[in-house]
Amino acid sequence: AKEEGRGRWTLFDPQRNARSVSRYAVSVRMPVALDRGEFFIDYQPLCRLEDGSLSSVEALVRWRHPQLGVLGPDEFIGTAEETGLIMPLGRWVLEQACGQAADWVERFGDRAPHLNVNLAVRQLRNAGLVADIDRVLRSTGLDPKRLQLEITESAVMGPEDDSLRALNSLVDMGVSLAIDDFGTGWSNLAYLRDLPVASLKIAGSFVSDLKESRREQVLGWRIVGGLVSLAHTLGLTVTAEGVENADHAERLRSMGCDRAQGWYFGRPSRPEEIVKRIMESKSG
Ligand code: C2E
Ligand code: CA
Ligand code: CA
Repeated sequence: AKEEGRGRWTLFDPQRNARSVSRYAVSVRMPVALDRGEFFIDYQPLCRLEDGSLSSVEALVRWRHPQLGVLGPDEFIGTAEETGLIMPLGRWVLEQACGQAADWVERFGDRAPHLNVNLAVRQLRNAGLVADIDRVLRSTGLDPKRLQLEITESAVMGPEDDSLRALNSLVDMGVSLAIDDFGTGWSNLAYLRDLPVASLKIAGSFVSDLKESRREQVLGWRIVGGLVSLAHTLGLTVTAEGVENADHAERLRSMGCDRAQGWYFGRPSRPEEIVKRIMESKSG
């Protein structure tokens, strides 16, 4: 499975040469980058479509590289997965984000948003994952019910028993799981039957690409509608990603989609921006 993963990455990595970021430079610098505090986290709102209120924020990691400027995760997460650095980096993101979320709860109580954190395939395969998360929740004091972990379809395709056990333990702890980029994985959907998933996140491309021909528009929206129905039939909540304008938001709301994430509801932003959003929101 490892071989396969590596092969896939080589084949499907269009980003690799897109910028002058050599993977070598990235992988050599990354270990010190963590120690030197060059990584930071932006938070993007997930809003309830019924009233636009702030439901959660997704932690999205960035790297302030001393020479290359700010790098997005697409430019280093792949390398981090390959080199294993995703382990300390993933742990740092989790700790940092849970600490932030707990701090907001302390300041704003129930008005504070929940927290979504991305989990890499490699983290999921790691035997220490459950203990790590348990430790982070205890040390930060964040209520596990406020944490949702996002995993991709490819991560749960034919999940090994160990991963399945780990995910079940996390759910027993009170943490919830979301399937990220739902609909792009080419997988059979059996995992929805086998996994304790609470939520689906419809891949941004389904919504934000809806600007082509009339026919594509119609079919695209029908697919989104079908995914929303599928989620609800299974008793799951559903979040649409890539929501870029009011038209997207209105259509999704009328379909009964629960939550939305995208530029229309807020770009990934610094914690101070999120605090402003919380303070603007009504309590209750
Ligand atoms: P993702 O989990 O699908 O995160 C959403 C991505 O969509 C983010 O890109 C976000 O900036 C972008 N986005 C949000 N709203 C819109 C919109 O309206 N239109 C468009 N076109 N794009 C939008 P970003 O921050 O570059 O992150 C890329 C990916 O990197 C993430 O995709 C996630 O898979 C991964 N990633 C980010 N942070 C972490 C992390 O801490 N750990 C792991 N393992 N992966 C991470
Ligand atoms: Ca995600
Ligand atoms: Ca996503």
